[in-house]
Amino acid sequence: AELYGIDEWSNGYFGISPEGEVVVHAPTAGGDAGVSLMEIVDGLQQRGLQMPVLLRVENILDSRISILNDSFAQAIEASGYQGHYRGAFPIKVNQQSHVIAEIARFGERYNHGLEAGSKAELMIALATLTNRDSLIICNGYKDAEFISLGLQARKLGFKCFFVLETLSELQSVIERSRALNVEPLIGVRLKLSTKVEGHWSEDSGDRSLFGLNTNELVSVIDTLRDANLLHCFQLLHFHLGSQIPNIRSIRAGVLEACRYYIELVGEGAPLGYLDLGGGLAIDYDGTCSTNGHSRNYSVQEYCIDVVEAIQESLDHHHIPHPTIVTESGRATVAHTSVLLFNILDVTHFEPTVMPTSLPEGCHEMIANLWHTLSVIRVANLQESYNDVIYYRDKIRDLFHAGDISLRHRVLGENIYLAALQKIAALLPQMKRIPAELESLPQLLADIYYGNFSVFQSLPDSWAIEQIFPVMPIHRLNEEPTRQAIIADLTCDCDGKLQKFATSAGESSTLPLHPINAGEEYYLGVFLVGAYQETLGDLHNLFGDTNVASVRINADKSIDFVHELHGDSIADVLSYVEYKPNSLYEQFRKTAEQAVRDGVISIADRQHMLAAYSESLRGYTYFEK
Ligand code: PLP
Repeated sequence: AELYGIDEWSNGYFGISPEGEVVVHAPTAGGDAGVSLMEIVDGLQQRGLQMPVLLRVENILDSRISILNDSFAQAIEASGYQGHYRGAFPIKVNQQSHVIAEIARFGERYNHGLEAGSKAELMIALATLTNRDSLIICNGYKDAEFISLGLQARKLGFKCFFVLETLSELQSVIERSRALNVEPLIGVRLKLSTKVEGHWSEDSGDRSLFGLNTNELVSVIDTLRDANLLHCFQLLHFHLGSQIPNIRSIRAGVLEACRYYIELVGEGAPLGYLDLGGGLAIDYDGTCSTNGHSRNYSVQEYCIDVVEAIQESLDHHHIPHPTIVTESGRATVAHTSVLLFNILDVTHFEPTVMPTSLPEGCHEMIANLWHTLSVIRVANLQESYNDVIYYRDKIRDLFHAGDISLRHRVLGENIYLAALQKIAALLPQMKRIPAELESLPQLLADIYYGNFSVFQSLPDSWAIEQIFPVMPIHRLNEEPTRQAIIADLTCDCDGKLQKFATSAGESSTLPLHPINAGEEYYLGVFLVGAYQETLGDLHNLFGDTNVASVRINADKSIDFVHELHGDSIADVLSYVEYKPNSLYEQFRKTAEQAVRDGVISIADRQHMLAAYSESLRGYTYFEK
């Protein structure tokens, strides 16, 4: 079971029970309560929620909010920092209403606020937050309507900041605030020159799309001073990128931002907030490294470094410590969601039948291949591989030319697969594996077909080759004897998972168990709570999956707090402008015509229409 590195990436939220099942260790007021994911799957299915299901564990979300806030509070206390911490969850990272409601509810005790990057997200924030001490941070391009909405929030007493992304927004903020007679709270997004590694490195640097350069910054100060609004400029914002792998870049970014902070205070801006944006990374592959799927620091280290860097910089200049704001999205929600799905089928790359000896009348090339198979040794693996490929190609050519039969071609393919399997099995005994043979295990890996869509549920795995931890959620006391990649339901060659984090490092195959006839085999993809739901798309018209939120109690009982049935076929068809009723009507006409033409009976017609109508209401995924 430790093959899957669960102890490395799960942050203690998941483990393995003595029965060999993945257990969620849900933090509760009465201590951790361990519940098997298989028990939850059973509960879901009894409630009519079929696979695939996106499972959210509320306790984990609550725990992440506590860890972030408590770690900052501890770092602040330990270092004698004079300011506070205020979190603002960026709505774009998971906009689902139930998630946002839970963040607002649980975050209330910490004054945890929300970050909005659009009018729609601001409207969510305004309707969700009840604690007016929580921050609302407005990022993104803002039109007059966006600004008016934010000013209404100010009137209501919310600490709603407009973070200027461009100079042009400033005029609009000044005009709207005069028109509505309310003073704005203004922040500025800096374009820092600190560069970070990772997939989102372009969020920082001179060519980053967002933020003001030094010229523009000076212009903001002058404009605000002229408008008698310099006292409204209270927040300095920067965002270096998401999933920042290296803590040293974060520290460098904070130090650079502090230089601006000091200068701006000198210019008369009464700053009180320093907003670091997002970037706090999580360890998707359990390596604690800077390889892009992980990070070389913990949440606690992040908080300590940020607090110390600000303190050191500002103390030299006797400037009061600001309220530290972060917009951590990924680190808040990633752990809370698990995608659960079942395996529908498996393709093996091994001979289906092998004769004990060659039948009479085999072509010489088949006989040569057969001989090669018998002489494969560790000492001649590359040579055997060359011969095997040569004879296989010859046999295929012979078939194309009509010189051997289909059955002999099948025989040739089976011997070929047996030879490759034998070579692959001996590879680990080689001192140095030749480059050409390195990919053999992946070429021979089984394909496990999963009941899900990569594009809908794990878009980052396709778009940026993000690794997510994947493993079976049961049978973990049995040795997983197969090596596999996972294909999804879409008929797209990109619809697969073939990069895995294992305890032995990154691997192109995943150890899995052979499928037992008549039994379901369930896998989980973990740490999928951030961005995946929002970015997912309708490729092949696979829609939203079923979603369930659970809360686990100290006595290990499970509350199914929220169930959401995924898209029906009618739903996804209407997203692409079909009208399900019209489709039904068209199909009815086709069936009626077939009755008139004597092709089907009226009873057949009735069955067909009932099936069509039921399918429209049905799930877009594979149903049993
Ligand atoms: N804030 C801003 C302005 C962002 O652009 C992002 C995402 O890129 C975030 C916060 C969230 O970042 P993360 O999920 O890395 O915490």
